[in-house]
Amino acid sequence: MTEKTVYLDHAATTPLDKEVLWEMHPYFCDCFGNADSVHAAGRRGMRVVDMARDNVAQLLGAKPSEIYFTSGGTESDNWAILGGAYAGREQGKKHVLLSAIEHHAALYAGERLQKEGFEVEYIPVDCLGRVRVEEVQKLLRPDTALVGVMAANNETGVLQPVQEIAQIVKANGSLFFTDAVQLAPYVPIDVKSFPVNMLSLSSHKFYGPKGCGVLYLRSGVKIEKLIGGGDQQRGLRGGTLNVPAIVGFSAAYYKNAQGMYETNEHIARLRQAFLEGISALEGVYINGDEKESLPAILNLRVEGVENTALLYAMDLKGVQFAAGAACAASSVKPSHVLKAMGLTDEEAKSSVRISFGKQNTEEEIAYAAKTFVQTVRDLRLK
Ligand code: PLP
Repeated sequence: MTEKTVYLDHAATTPLDKEVLWEMHPYFCDCFGNADSVHAAGRRGMRVVDMARDNVAQLLGAKPSEIYFTSGGTESDNWAILGGAYAGREQGKKHVLLSAIEHHAALYAGERLQKEGFEVEYIPVDCLGRVRVEEVQKLLRPDTALVGVMAANNETGVLQPVQEIAQIVKANGSLFFTDAVQLAPYVPIDVKSFPVNMLSLSSHKFYGPKGCGVLYLRSGVKIEKLIGGGDQQRGLRGGTLNVPAIVGFSAAYYKNAQGMYETNEHIARLRQAFLEGISALEGVYINGDEKESLPAILNLRVEGVENTALLYAMDLKGVQFAAGAACAASSVKPSHVLKAMGLTDEEAKSSVRISFGKQNTEEEIAYAAKTFVQTVRDLRLK
């Protein structure tokens, strides 16, 4: 084991920013009121939730009444897809389109809808991991209730043409949902110029707390609620509001927006340094469209090496990254994203995801690259 640790798995999660923790702190013990209670302690809780909602709305170009706080990206994805499809069924629409590379949270919702009698079809991607607008156009039908295409993929970082897709889906009279969980840390989103009906965010991808997400739901769009009970959040999402996490979401999203440009520049430099550092290695290929992707995520296919073996060997030397999406990291199945791009099982199983963050240093990246080269060479000799 080594004492040096280089964390390169920011697409899985990011560390909580200490300034954000500081802002959350008062709402655990001192100002603990239930935000829906009518007394002063409750009203104080609601006041900060309202401020957080206003802030998130402003950053997204949305109205505060369009912002719903959830338990994370998984809940937001499930709610948008299931709730949107159920609402469509009321109008006799039972067809749903999801891209083949969606996060497992969205794919789960698709499988559930299929079992419940919906017809769910998957939009293919090209070999660079991009959904083609023409494919969406081809698959759209008059009875399409909902289309879901993520804004940036969590395994490859490839950006999807969601702006154009949103236009054609709107023209078809269907709902359009985008999972913007991976996009949001790196690209400003403005729903005023983006005709999306629903959009999901998750705070732990931009140095906020885990277990807190947002669903943006455009005014006038009717979807069914998933979590009922109390009358919280305009009766659409029951459950006592997680005040500290909501405060943390808002603070982290704000801070992220302030530093976005610098972070992106820094991360792009680190990515370049890593690629240069491993350039002596033969048989290493980038999976996905290099020109149309988030600099933070680098998916590499390393010929002749099994990704789990590489991951464990690198972990022992203190360098942490992923073999695929974090939620599927313990699975032996090859990545559905890479398979959708046309990679064979073997190629998918020799691919790793390295994702950089704002706290990584050039020194860390030099160490990670050097260790990567040595480890791949050692594994190839075995
Ligand atoms: N969608 C994408 C694209 C993700 O990368 C993730 C997290 O890995 C999620 C949804 C789920 O978000 P959460 O971890 O907040 O449930």
